[in-house]
Amino acid sequence: MTTPPSSAPFRFPVAARYAGMESSPLKDIFALAAREDVVSFAGGIPDPELFALEEVTACYDWVLSQQGDRALQYGVSEGELELREQAARRVSRDLPTDASQIRVTSGSQEGLFVVAQALLEPGDVVLVESPTYLAAVQAFAVHGARMIGVDTDDDGVIPEALEEAIRTHHPRMVYLIPTFQNPTGRTMPLERRQAVAEVLQRTDVPLIEDDPYGALSFTGSTWAPIAALPGMGERTILLNSMSKLMSPGVRIGWMRAEGPVLDTLAVAKAAISMQSSVVDQLMVARYLETVDLDAHVARVSAVYRERRDAMSAAIAPVLPDGAHVTRPEGGMFLWAALGEGYDAQEMLADAVEAGVAYLPGWSFYADHADRSTMRLSFVTHSPAVIEDAVARLGEVIAAHRA
Ligand code: PMP
Repeated sequence: MTTPPSSAPFRFPVAARYAGMESSPLKDIFALAAREDVVSFAGGIPDPELFALEEVTACYDWVLSQQGDRALQYGVSEGELELREQAARRVSRDLPTDASQIRVTSGSQEGLFVVAQALLEPGDVVLVESPTYLAAVQAFAVHGARMIGVDTDDDGVIPEALEEAIRTHHPRMVYLIPTFQNPTGRTMPLERRQAVAEVLQRTDVPLIEDDPYGALSFTGSTWAPIAALPGMGERTILLNSMSKLMSPGVRIGWMRAEGPVLDTLAVAKAAISMQSSVVDQLMVARYLETVDLDAHVARVSAVYRERRDAMSAAIAPVLPDGAHVTRPEGGMFLWAALGEGYDAQEMLADAVEAGVAYLPGWSFYADHADRSTMRLSFVTHSPAVIEDAVARLGEVIAAHRA
């Protein structure tokens, strides 16, 4: 006798670690923000007008016409040598690096996933800044890690709080974004980096240092990663990405590490995706060889600086007394804490009605979220559009004043 088919629709059983994660908490917000009548400050979306389309086209043309057989073939998990050499050249500006110490990834997001695969056991603790980059938390969480937020101030993570958290929670690793952080836009000054490095060396905890924004400086000065401080190279996996400098669609980034962990990272990468796209790797290698990326990034940064200025100037007068807002010296994001009595998530529907969207800050906290916070990306729109939309946001904030 056969069992009659169930009338209920079939539902795939999913792994416990993904249960309840059917959609990102931000998916609905991005859907709202995509409405044509809404000016969105929600996503860290580079302005497509600033893409170096001609140069990228020329590099793809060259790769396909000169190295087509190789570009369309399987490659190696470590990454194509030309790209690793170019990556090593860039990293070596701060930290002597050989091509053999580079592992290519499909964007930093894959780098974070590879790191989690290679390093984390279920139940491990990862210490993160409070607040931190949401999708890193997700990549660690699906590997069963428990994230614990460490207190920060305007200079980033607080070394004493970090040391205390290490002693209490015995983390497997610490994850930091020291330069032009996502979501706050904050940067750790040198002294703070040194203090953090001392804590990590004293306690023997490895560092995952995520640096996708560091080159997008508005002041002309750039920050060497914590990995470049004495004794930190071997204790740090440094992640870089071409996403914010050249194109997020191309999906190329890399990790820099030292010692045997490099082999583990390559095995994990191979298990996940064999290798990153060879044609894209060779295109980026050609780009880094023949195009002046620094000049391109300087042009992009000059435009972003104007937009940062516009947003900083527009937002200051519309914030309530006691609110706190960052003034980033690079990167893409400005972070505002409206203060007690405000809930940025609740306010969002009214903001969208008024034609402006942002990301409520609660989603960037591993724990103890400040619900009055919001992340505003200043890179996508012109100063005039920013000024107008922030003024409308100001009206919404005023209407929510307790
Ligand atoms: N790390 C941080 C801190 C980010 O902000 C982002 C992009 N939003 C990423 C990693 C991932 O970027 P990608 O995979 O495009 O390199």
